[in-house]
Parts: sequence; C-alpha cells; structure tokens
Amino acid sequence: MPAKGAMMVLSGTDVLVIGHGVVGAIAAWRARVAGLAVTCLDPHPGAGASYAAAGMLAPVTEADFGEHDLVRLNVASAARWPAFAAEVEHASGMDIGFCTSGILSVAYDVGDAQQLDRLCQVQRRWGLEVEELAVAGARDREPLLGPRIAGAYWVPGDHQVDPRALHRALRENLARLGVTTFSVAAARLLTDSAGAVVGAVDTEGVTHLADRVVVAAGHATRALVAPLEGVEAPTRAVKGQIVRLDGRDAGWIGEARIVRGLVQQRPVYVVWRPSGEIIIGATSEELPDDRQSTVGGVFGLLRDARAIIPGLDELPIAELAARARPGSPDNLPLLGQTATPGLILATGHYRNGILLAALTSDACDAIFAQRPLDELWSTADPMRFCTKETR
Ligand SMILES: Cc1cc2nc3c(=O)[nH]c(=O)nc-3n(C[C@H](O)[C@H](O)[C@H](O)COP(=O)(O)OP(=O)(O)OC[C@H]3O[C@@H](n4cnc5c(N)ncnc54)[C@H](O)[C@@H]3O)c2cc1C
Repeated sequence: MPAKGAMMVLSGTDVLVIGHGVVGAIAAWRARVAGLAVTCLDPHPGAGASYAAAGMLAPVTEADFGEHDLVRLNVASAARWPAFAAEVEHASGMDIGFCTSGILSVAYDVGDAQQLDRLCQVQRRWGLEVEELAVAGARDREPLLGPRIAGAYWVPGDHQVDPRALHRALRENLARLGVTTFSVAAARLLTDSAGAVVGAVDTEGVTHLADRVVVAAGHATRALVAPLEGVEAPTRAVKGQIVRLDGRDAGWIGEARIVRGLVQQRPVYVVWRPSGEIIIGATSEELPDDRQSTVGGVFGLLRDARAIIPGLDELPIAELAARARPGSPDNLPLLGQTATPGLILATGHYRNGILLAALTSDACDAIFAQRPLDELWSTADPMRFCTKETR
C-alpha cells in the first residue's frame, strides 16, 4: 500500500465501468465475455435504483402517450428477455425470478376507466396486445380485487423478474470471470492532452487507467461528465418510493402475478413474487435521491393499493425503500460511444431499466465488438443533447 496521500496509479485495464447497478453490471459482463479486461468502481454496488425496482417487464402497460420511441425499445427488449434470462441464469447458476405472469390492469372509477380506455386505444394503434375484460372476467383472473372496479384489461405480454436476484446473478457472473469491483466512487474522469477519456480518479485518490470508460452511474452520470468538453449527459434523479409486504403467512406463495390500478387518476401497482414477497409501487417525484420514505408517499401507495386489493390490509410491512431513477429529458436512455474518444455512456434507463436490460446487453455486445448498434438505438444516441461544437 502506498503511504497515505501518495498518488497510486493502477496499471491499465481495457474497460473501466463506473457504476455497478444493473446497467453497469451488464456492461461489465458483456465486456468481459468479449474477452476484455474489466474493472468496476461503485461505492455501493446494486444499491441505487436497481435496488428499489419492482421488476415489471412491462412494455405494454408502461406505454404512455408521446413515448412511441421508448415503446419500440421496450417491446424489442421484452422479446429478448427469455433468452437473456436463460443466459444469465446459466452463467451464474442462480434463479433470477423471471416469470411470464401477464398483467391485469384495472380502473377504480368511471373517470379512471375513461383514461385507461384512451390509453389502451393508443397502445393498440402501436400494435400492442391489450384485451378488454368485463369486470366479472377480471374477478375470475384476480379474485382479490376490491368491490369498486370500473373497467379492466388483460395484458398477456407483460411479465416480471426479481431485480435484486438479477443483480446478484450478474455479480456472480463477474466474480466467476475474475472481474474486480472496487467499493469506491469515481471522483472525476481522466483525460489526456487530446481530450480522450483514459480512466478515472477515485475518491481515495487512486487513478484507474483504461482504454475505454463506461459511465453507468445512473442519475449521477451528469455530474461526472459535466467537466468534459464536447459531451453532455443531462440525467436527473426522479425519486420513487415502494413498499414491500410479506405475504408468506397469508398463503400468497407460489404464483407470480401483477395488478396495475388507476385510482382517481393515480397509478399504482402490486407485484406478487412466487416467494410470497409483494411490492407496491411506486411514487414518481421530481426530487433528489434522498432515499427517504415519506408519510405522504407511503400513505398514497397503501391507500391506492388497498382500493384495488383490500386484502393487503392484513399483511406485515417488510420494507420501505426510496431510490431515484436515472431520468433523461426525453425519457430515453443514453447508450453508446460518444464523440469523446474512450467515453461510452450507459444511463438514462429511467423507469424501464430492468425491462431494457436484455436489449442493453445486446447493445453492449455490439459496442465492445465495435459494431454499429441496431437501428432501434438511434433514438438513444448519447450525443443527442450535446450543444457543444464537437457534435
Ligand atoms: C421505485 C422504482 C421502481 C422501479 N420499477 C421498475 C420496474 O418495475 N421495471 C423496470 O424496468 N424498471 C424499474 N425501475 C427503473 C430501474 O430501477 C432503473 O431504470 C435501473 O435500475 C437503472 O439502472 P442503473 O444501473 O442505470 O442505475 P442504478 O441502479 O441507480 O445504478 C447506478 C450505480 O452507480 C453508482 N454510482 C453513482 N455515482 C457513482 C460514482 N461517482 N462512482 C461510482 N459509482 C457511482 C451508484 O452507487 C449505483 O450503484 C424502477 C425504479 C424505481 C426507483
């Protein structure tokens, strides 16, 4: 060990990945599978947005007005999920809880039914599969629905995975491939005299040199990239709160299912995992990543979840969690090589980063093989927000 205060330089690696959430872990894994030497930096791997995610793989029920470009990415990623899950599970020997559950979407009152109907019409125009149900049909699918339901849709193509299990499996894959993760934050990116990114200096003063640097630091990517000329990553934190319930003693074990509700114009979802874990989510607040669960946030989630599934009342609360999604100005990711040599961005996956994991994995394969990305990714060009001259 060098004396305290002495500068330490770690000899070069092919790829340095900054941020070890689901996206950074995928980038690191694909780089290593491509035969590259990889190092990762993250003070708290897996403790960002990926920790709070409910794990819905929901290209249809997430499809919203004005988001057609995002829907195209989401649909393509959903199609890749079965193969991606199989590959992650095979490589790690771990179960990641991928289940083809479908999603039941319900409206609480007449206004909610009208809003859901308008959204479903747009979703159908985009070619998405949404089946309208009579309320009795919805109750057949979900006997736990409350008495006040004004409309329902069945979405067979939306599924789920356990994001924490996914992250554990990705870490296991990296460990098996000998990838080192340092539990430290990157303080700044390092550039050479030509402006190329050649590594990073961590908060302990250690320099990590690399041929290519992937910044996958979630919403914090913006701050890391800000000092560089010629590139901008306007990510922002969008806070989300969830409540986890323990459904094991209620006998709610074994069946994966998801109910999404619109309750007096407020969206809420309830995700059942086969383990008996139940997730109620999520708030969406334009607030920083303070990781605080609030009375108003938790109250709102429980009120709306109980409105559609009253039986939740009986269950113990296992955990409250609040984390920030990595938002971008147009709700699309920033993924790929930038105009700055050596700098790759992998961020901005916002509210669909788990769903987009499968397609992100494919994109990383292309990036590390220096192949062009699939045309689908053109809307996620990491240089699209750059107003500086090198654009
Ligand atoms: C409440 C909630 C519910 C969600 N539900 C779903 C869902 O059902 N389905 C879905 O698809 N998506 C969902 N999402 C979105 C999904 O969680 C995110 O899109 C995804 O986790 C983003 O992954 P990431 O790796 O980019 O970011 P993160 O998981 O936030 O990881 C970023 C990592 O970077 C690290 N980092 C930050 N700064 C530095 C630095 N300077 N140096 C080194 N490391 C650094 C952090 O410690 C962190 O580990 C949800 C999000 C939230 C908050």
